[in-house]
Amino acid sequence: MITGKTKLLGVIGYPIEHSLSPIMHNAAIAHLGLDYAYLPFPIPPAKLEPAIAGFDAIGVQGFSITIPHKQAILPLLASVTEIAQAVGAVNTVWHSQQGWSGTNTDVEGFLAPLKSLARDWSQVVAVILGNGGASRAVVAGCHQLGCAEIHVVGRDSEKLEKFLKSWMHSPLNVNLKVHTWSNLAELLPGADLLVNTTPVGMAPHSARSPLSPAEVDLLPSNLIAYDLIYTPNPTLFLQQAQGKGAIALDGLEMLVQQGAAALRIWLQQEVPIDVMRRSLRQHLGWE
Ligand code: NAP
Repeated sequence: MITGKTKLLGVIGYPIEHSLSPIMHNAAIAHLGLDYAYLPFPIPPAKLEPAIAGFDAIGVQGFSITIPHKQAILPLLASVTEIAQAVGAVNTVWHSQQGWSGTNTDVEGFLAPLKSLARDWSQVVAVILGNGGASRAVVAGCHQLGCAEIHVVGRDSEKLEKFLKSWMHSPLNVNLKVHTWSNLAELLPGADLLVNTTPVGMAPHSARSPLSPAEVDLLPSNLIAYDLIYTPNPTLFLQQAQGKGAIALDGLEMLVQQGAAALRIWLQQEVPIDVMRRSLRQHLGWE
């Protein structure tokens, strides 16, 4: 129920209709019996600055950020955490004494399902497919885990060079190597963690995989295969890896856990992760 005291949270993006965040956040808020509402705000890029000033004026408590505002928001914030600076993108903003503060909870979201696996991460070779926005959170996550090697595979040499340089100038001292797709076959047999951060295989193109049949044959049996995509579930990539004996992790848990980390910041209390997960699974028709 909306009352005279209801506090406002939300998500900004453009478009925003596809966002699953309102579903999981409002489910958690209802479960906790709190007087908050979490709303979607479609904000065109040209309206970002006045929209954020307006949020300040009407007392919005905090908000999530999705495409295309994750980088553009940076100059509008009074402070940004080190992890968000390193990733170069903010997905969570809250009110602090100085003004708006921002962080990136995608890294925490990515790490959550991995942390439940018993592994000596200092021995793990991570191979990351794709060098876009999500790949940056995955690189920071693998760095935080202390992975022995981090390899990023992309299809555009110029973008890969830029990606590499951006990490050299980041507050995290990340040691990574970049490769074009033609090197993937050499990397796969030695990989312990293989993460797909490309959109290849996402519904409605569910019959696609980022790996060729020859590359699938090179997957080691002790692999952790992680796909950031959450529809379909499982993706063809995860099915192929499972067929080779790999542990498969899908992108839904990352989505839930990055949301839970944001809600914890806004509410300053523990949040019901199982309620958030179930609300999404029900919405997606999985339960
Ligand atoms: P992005 O910034 O557009 O990056 C996509 C990357 O994939 C780029 O490096 C792109 O290469 C590469 N790519 C695209 N099509 C490809 C193809 N056909 N073959 C090889 N590489 C290809 O997108 P993003 O924001 O990182 O998101 C990537 C995926 O992660 C999406 O499926 C998204 O839904 C998912 N995601 C999930 C979560 C979660 O919580 N589970 C969070 C964030 C993102 P170029 O740069 O050469 O174009």
